[in-house]
Amino acid sequence: MTSDLVADVTASPARLRRELERAVRACTSCGLYGGRTTPVVGEGPFDARLMIVGSKPRRHEDLQGRPFAGGTGNVLDQAMQVAGLAKQDAYLTTIVKCRPGDDRPATPDEVEACAQHFRAQLRLVKPEVIVALGSFAASVLLRRPIDVGRVAGYRFDLQGVTLIPTYHPADAVRGVPQAAGTLRRDLSAAKAVLDGRLPTGAQTMAEARARAVG
Ligand code: SF4
Repeated sequence: MTSDLVADVTASPARLRRELERAVRACTSCGLYGGRTTPVVGEGPFDARLMIVGSKPRRHEDLQGRPFAGGTGNVLDQAMQVAGLAKQDAYLTTIVKCRPGDDRPATPDEVEACAQHFRAQLRLVKPEVIVALGSFAASVLLRRPIDVGRVAGYRFDLQGVTLIPTYHPADAVRGVPQAAGTLRRDLSAAKAVLDGRLPTGAQTMAEARARAVG
């Protein structure tokens, strides 16, 4: 089990990575395993301070076994560059690891089944900031309906981790006019939080509460 190994703090990052990949590749915990070409585990260093989370693998990712491939990958790469973030600054992953057929949203049961792997990744990476790409990923992580059209760039507090919802690069590929610019802005905000130039989610929410009672 991935979770058993994650509890083994003496395991090397290489061994943890192999075990996580083995667990996901062998996983048949939900029906999505039947339609996948390649499960997409995640990519990036386990000591990254930033985690970037999408909703699911799409066609290119399913074929290549890598998160954010094809056009969405190009948009994300450019936005990270503009924000001053290198590829090795972030761990990239998705809420579910196998592609839903026809690129439909994952069902609540599929999300719940795959949470074992996502939780393991959270325990391994221990991010300080999470950028959630798209309303679906943000809603799953914050456990309430989130519309990135309304709250992109807000800094939420997720048990001590700053969570910033923003547009998914696929929105930019689809032609949503504000998507690419907002993604660049919000990745820049994530970098500013990491650099101490912007308040964390916890600090932001504490300030908002203080204003509300003051
Ligand atoms: S989506 Fe997640 S839970 Fe479902 S089969 Fe793939 S790895 Fe397992």
